[in-house]
Amino acid sequence: MSSVIESIQTLLVDLPTIRPHKLSMTTMACQTMVIVRMRHSDGIEGLGEGTTIGGLAYGPESPESIKTNIDTYLAPLLIGQPSGNLNALRARLNRSARGNAIAKSALETALLDAQGKRLGLSVAELLGGACQEHLPVLWTLASGDTAKDIDEALLRLEQRRHCDFKLKIGANPVKQDVRHVAAIKEALGDRAGVRVDVNQAWDESTAVYGIQALQDAGIELIEQAIPAREHAGLIRLANRFNVPMLADEAVQDARDGLDLIAGGFSGAFALKIAKSGGLQGVLELAHLAQAAGVGLYGGTLLEGTIGTAASLHAWATLPEMAWGTEMFGPLLLKDDIVAEPLAYDDFGVALPSGPGLGIALDEDKLAHYARS
Ligand SMILES: [Mg+2]
Repeated sequence: MSSVIESIQTLLVDLPTIRPHKLSMTTMACQTMVIVRMRHSDGIEGLGEGTTIGGLAYGPESPESIKTNIDTYLAPLLIGQPSGNLNALRARLNRSARGNAIAKSALETALLDAQGKRLGLSVAELLGGACQEHLPVLWTLASGDTAKDIDEALLRLEQRRHCDFKLKIGANPVKQDVRHVAAIKEALGDRAGVRVDVNQAWDESTAVYGIQALQDAGIELIEQAIPAREHAGLIRLANRFNVPMLADEAVQDARDGLDLIAGGFSGAFALKIAKSGGLQGVLELAHLAQAAGVGLYGGTLLEGTIGTAASLHAWATLPEMAWGTEMFGPLLLKDDIVAEPLAYDDFGVALPSGPGLGIALDEDKLAHYARS
């Protein structure tokens, strides 16, 4: 008899960050991950992770709501169902629960991890196979202090850890932010690419002022300068400036992508498994973007190793990601809950090998950091 899903356990895991991480809406000193352990009747366990940044200041799901909604509503839809039919299980979840993209992404990751272990295939192989085994990874400078950010960037360059940097701005007045970014770009020169993420903090007229100044300073990409819902404004900005716009919060799934493309958007989309409800949803968006000539960027909600590995398996199946990835979440954390960390080197990260995600838990660490 084929395997069925037997149990789904969710754990809230708090890991401290290596430094405060300042975003336009909040400052993080700790990352909380929802770890999913999905056990199947054939003895296989699938791992998943649902993680967000900045709690409800960022989006409608919090770690606590992800756990509650999986435990109360989503897990009962899956338990007792056949383990291996991911498409049917995804449709079942979507029929009975709206939204909850991060929770669904965690569950889909656990299903894929288990199916890969069952078949002896990596998650990338389950998704058709990897085009890349090593993916570029940028670093986010978000200490909030210009001199500290420059020192941090120079160190990462010297270590050959990262050669592209993203600055989180939008919390300060625009002129102050522009001075901060321009000083960092000037200090790094041609040795590094510098981009900004405004995380929706500006209105359109502030964005016009800020983007012009950032374009003049040599910034290469402008992420989500205005609120997510303002698709028309984002399209106007994309048409107005030479520096490309990266849509992040504006593009959750393929439906948003279609709206932006149909409206004349050019630039790039930030892909996140957590925004699109999992790996299959995010690849639907990626394939749409590819067909429309919109660039791709592998985004993160600062997941730990499990969520980062899941994202890497999805990104690896794409023939090209014009803007690389930001899959540095595990590097922002002081410790980890996995036996073998991801291998970061040569300005990027290696796709983990082995069946499923290629990731195993460190049970002692997990017990130490899990909330009781
Ligand atoms: Mg962003």
